[in-house]
Amino acid sequence: MNIDSIKNGLVIDHIKAKTAFNIYNSLNLGNLDCSVAMITNAKSKKMGRKDIIKIDKEIYIDLSLLGYLDPNITINVIKNNELVEKKHIELPKEVVNIIKCKNPRCITSIEQELKSVFVLTNKEKKEYRCKYCETLNS
Ligand code: ZN
Repeated sequence: MNIDSIKNGLVIDHIKAKTAFNIYNSLNLGNLDCSVAMITNAKSKKMGRKDIIKIDKEIYIDLSLLGYLDPNITINVIKNNELVEKKHIELPKEVVNIIKCKNPRCITSIEQELKSVFVLTNKEKKEYRCKYCETLNS
């Protein structure tokens, strides 16, 4: 794989510097059968330093998970060596099965099959609350 160019795939750009490995793990990129390149601490005009992940295949990415981890990320979709789409992501209004409720009396703690749903209640503070018991995520 040529690090500079991917023929068909995704470039996850503008990742907060030195957090690419966290993104890599959260998205389970280690389980892919294609090449994945991680560039850490790259120079960026906009951010000073940033991380980049290049994936040599067009895979499905959970945008709400990615948005929850780092809402400043952009995803570039590459087809036949050309940038065909730039996806800007943002903090998702709702996340499913990403945060686990800490309240031991919450219905999601008791009924394990139930999906955990957290709703964004404060965008600036990145505050999410459990949909069932309103416990804060932090
Ligand atoms: Zn709860």
